[in-house]
Amino acid sequence: MQFPHPDSRILPANIKCVNPPLHNSKSDEQERIVGSLVGLAIGDALGASVEFRPRQYLLDHPISDMQGGGTWGLDAGQWTDDTSMALCLASSLITQHQFNPYDQMVRYKWWYKKGFLSSTGQCFDIGSTTRSSLEKFCERQNILKQYYKNAKEEVIDNLPLEDVRRVQNFNECCGEAGEAGNGPLMRLAPVPLFYFRQPDIAVQLAGESARLTHGDVKAVDACRYYAALIVAAISGEPKKDLLHEQFYESHRKWFGSEPLHPDVVRVAQGSYKKQGGYNEGIRGKNYIINTLEAALWAFWSDENSFENGALNAVNLGDDTDTTAAVYGQLAGAYYGASAILRHWGKKLYAVNLLVCTAEWLYYEGSRIQSNRNQQQQQKQRMPNPQSSTHQPSTTTKPVDRMGYNTQNAKNTRPDPSKLPAAGMPSGGFKYD
Ligand SMILES: [Mg+2]
Repeated sequence: MQFPHPDSRILPANIKCVNPPLHNSKSDEQERIVGSLVGLAIGDALGASVEFRPRQYLLDHPISDMQGGGTWGLDAGQWTDDTSMALCLASSLITQHQFNPYDQMVRYKWWYKKGFLSSTGQCFDIGSTTRSSLEKFCERQNILKQYYKNAKEEVIDNLPLEDVRRVQNFNECCGEAGEAGNGPLMRLAPVPLFYFRQPDIAVQLAGESARLTHGDVKAVDACRYYAALIVAAISGEPKKDLLHEQFYESHRKWFGSEPLHPDVVRVAQGSYKKQGGYNEGIRGKNYIINTLEAALWAFWSDENSFENGALNAVNLGDDTDTTAAVYGQLAGAYYGASAILRHWGKKLYAVNLLVCTAEWLYYEGSRIQSNRNQQQQQKQRMPNPQSSTHQPSTTTKPVDRMGYNTQNAKNTRPDPSKLPAAGMPSGGFKYD
């Protein structure tokens, strides 16, 4: 599978999809992973035409199907920034075979500046915090350009992570304290879909992915908690356990040494279980705690129907597409792809790309796991250096627990002769 060059302006529906080498019989995990990414996009598309409409508007004109027009003048089934950013994140994980935060920001920038992976070919819907973080990132890339002798933007965009890490005063994390919008939650799913086999890493990296654009601990922790729910759903945990007020406590080891923010814990303990929904304070607003609560309320009250839950999320009003996209990530993982595609698959824009991308996340995530297993086996087989003259194998690149390639990640100035030549990207756009 090859994601297009950002300058090619190829629309998502025209991207050629090549399926990964998976077995023909689909596993339950694969079903759920596809369900999560497709669920995100379906929720986004359902809410797109009424984004920003208040609750009263939705009471007067309730949404019952995908429809065009409205806020953005899209066709029925087309999706907005939630799905575009999720696809940027997914394309980074698949292309880089690891969590590369710099590359993720580059892809978000491509979407913002060039309409990369947008359903219309342009960035038409962007949150203010995400926008200011991406502007800051563009500014900061000048530090890299200077360090690498005024290299062209394309070269800087394609720098390998170890070359970015050499530049000590550069930091791709552009979020700041107090930024607690729902931007990182709407695009989250690819991280748990890629890393579900290592729940603690999935939770940690979900937080890292949020911090790139939104620095408030509530935004980071809402993403950590939601990633844990998605991982648990992929693993087949029943709904009553996902929604159990002890979920956080019973999965506490996934969260490492950093406890969740009390506002997120309050949600995890069931603050969303309000029979009256909107009338009891459930809101589809931009604040991430509101979004988390509203998405979980929709899941809790959906009577085991994805359609019910997605429509109820949209019909809360306000940030309709994002509330439903967040609902769709978890509910899609829980109900599985077949159940949700049956109803809305035909109308969803670029559905083949979404399915194919999810399958690649599943496949590439399994390769990370098997590489890690091989390294562990190698380690166990390695003789004790104190009692032997054998040298450790150098054929496998060292990879740390989070999947970062740590080889050459030293803070030393690189040999200029090894710098990527102008116009010759050293990374990206390479696929197996
Ligand atoms: Mg949106």
